[in-house]
Amino acid sequence: MANRVGAARATKPALLARLRALEPTWPVAPAERRWITERQAALLLLKSDTLGPPIPNRVVTELEGITVTESEQLPKGLLGASQAPPLEQRVTIFHELKHVIDGLSAAHARRASHRNQCERSCEHFARAVLVPAAALHADWQAGHRRIPALARRYQVSESLMAARLHELGLGAKAIGARRAFCRAVTRLGRTKSERRSAR
Ligand SMILES: [Zn+2]
Repeated sequence: MANRVGAARATKPALLARLRALEPTWPVAPAERRWITERQAALLLLKSDTLGPPIPNRVVTELEGITVTESEQLPKGLLGASQAPPLEQRVTIFHELKHVIDGLSAAHARRASHRNQCERSCEHFARAVLVPAAALHADWQAGHRRIPALARRYQVSESLMAARLHELGLGAKAIGARRAFCRAVTRLGRTKSERRSAR
C-alpha cells in the first residue's frame, strides 16, 4: 500500500499564516501551549467550514499551501509518512500539519527536549481537530458516552477517543479523579466534631 505523505508548499498560505500567528515566539508554559493548540484547531475547523463529526481529511488536503501526496518512497524534505491503518493515517495527516504550522528549524527540532514537546503538541493538535471540544462536549451532554460508539462517530481509534475524553475532563478516569479531589476537599473543610459525627 502506498504511504501517505504530508508536505508544505509556500503558496499564499493565508490560513496557515493565521494559524502560525497564534504560535508565540517566546517560551510558554505547557498549559498555555495546550490552550493555543486548541485555538489553532478551532480556527482551522471554523475556516474550513467543516461540520463534523467525522472531520474529513480535506481540512488538510484542501488547505492552501499544503500538498498531501501518496508515495512508496518518502522524498527528501517532506515532513512525514505512515504505513498505518486508515484511522492512524488520519492522525498522521493532522499531526504533520501541526509540524508545518510550527515550522521549527531543523536544529531546533533536533533538541530532544524540544522534540518531545513538539511531538506532544502535534498529537494534541490531531486529537483537537479530529475530535473538536465543542462537538464532544455536546455529545457527552446528550448522553453519548460509550467510547467505541464515539470513536466510530468521529472515525478515530478508541485509544485516541479515550485520550481526548481525558484531556477534556470527561470520561471515567477524569471524573473519578475529580470526585476523589472533591471528597478530599470536603473532608478538609469539615470541623473535627463534624468529622466525628460523620463516622
Ligand atoms: Zn511528529
